[in-house]
Amino acid sequence: MSNVLVTGGAGYIGSHACKALRNAGFTPVTYDNLCTGWEDAVKFGPFEKGELHDRAALDAVFETYKPVAVMHFAALSQVGDSMKQPGQYWHNNVGGSLVLFEAAIAAGCLNIVFSSTCATYGEHDNVLLDETIEQRPINAYASSKRAIEDMLQDYENAHGLRNVIFRYFNVAGADPDAEVGEFHQPETHLVPLMLDAIAGKRDALTIYGTDYDTPDGTCIRDYVHVCDLVDAHVLGLRWLLEGKESRVFNLGSGTGFSVREVVDQSRAVNNRAVPISEGERRPGDCTKLVSGSTRAEKELGWTPTRSKMDTMIADAWKWHQTGHYDR
Ligand code: UDP
Repeated sequence: MSNVLVTGGAGYIGSHACKALRNAGFTPVTYDNLCTGWEDAVKFGPFEKGELHDRAALDAVFETYKPVAVMHFAALSQVGDSMKQPGQYWHNNVGGSLVLFEAAIAAGCLNIVFSSTCATYGEHDNVLLDETIEQRPINAYASSKRAIEDMLQDYENAHGLRNVIFRYFNVAGADPDAEVGEFHQPETHLVPLMLDAIAGKRDALTIYGTDYDTPDGTCIRDYVHVCDLVDAHVLGLRWLLEGKESRVFNLGSGTGFSVREVVDQSRAVNNRAVPISEGERRPGDCTKLVSGSTRAEKELGWTPTRSKMDTMIADAWKWHQTGHYDR
């Protein structure tokens, strides 16, 4: 069985990717420093604890496992936090990726599946966000991701480091078997915070800004189920292993939901009111991010099956009730 090195495999998306890889016949080797991940989320293959900046540790992992590819999820990923401490994002995300790519090239592992973000597009009024749109990030998280995309381009030109870049829209939901799910400490994402508020684990969900230029004044995002998202990664991996050219793909559902609409959908799923408070805008938030591309469907053959909002909330709620949040 082929090994795939999964950086950030102990995190939310990485752990789901490990399950998808295992189910597709690969062995996922998690490389994670557990700064935001959880060792008990590593269930589908070996675990190597380490830093992206630790070149010697990475060299040893490449030597031991001889992976056919790297799926690179490990990153700091909070928009608000990135505005307060941009240096951490440049150091960890950009600097760490640089060391990882150098190690991969030295080991002859020249296939990278990289997790990027739709936040690299920034603000575009009334323009469909497809992969050809100019990237104009407005927060340090997105700037760091765009820098890594640029780095990959340069490394491909110089060293043949082939890559599939996925620009995620908003990832939500959980493994329907509830083996893994979303848990960040501290939590900053809308769906888990909303479920916490419903379950009485926090007083209320604060809506960050109600004066945006949208129909109900709250930000609009495109939500995609984590299981659909990681299925695309397996397709991206196969794409590279088949020798196809490097490519960028948006991963979104193509449908926008405002924060208030997500809250309303939640009420429909579990019949419980979400306690709400209205707060200030969060620095760095774009007004609207919705994918306008079907490239992943057309070229990769990606067919999302769980990315309806009610399914995502129901799966997240099922995971929430397992008590994994009660650490
Ligand atoms: N949001 C909110 N309250 C929260 C967390 C998020 O109103 O407690 C909003 C946020 O402003 C954004 C959307 O929900 O418009 C999604 O935010 P999240 O942090 O989940 O993902 P991001 O868009 O930053 O990747």
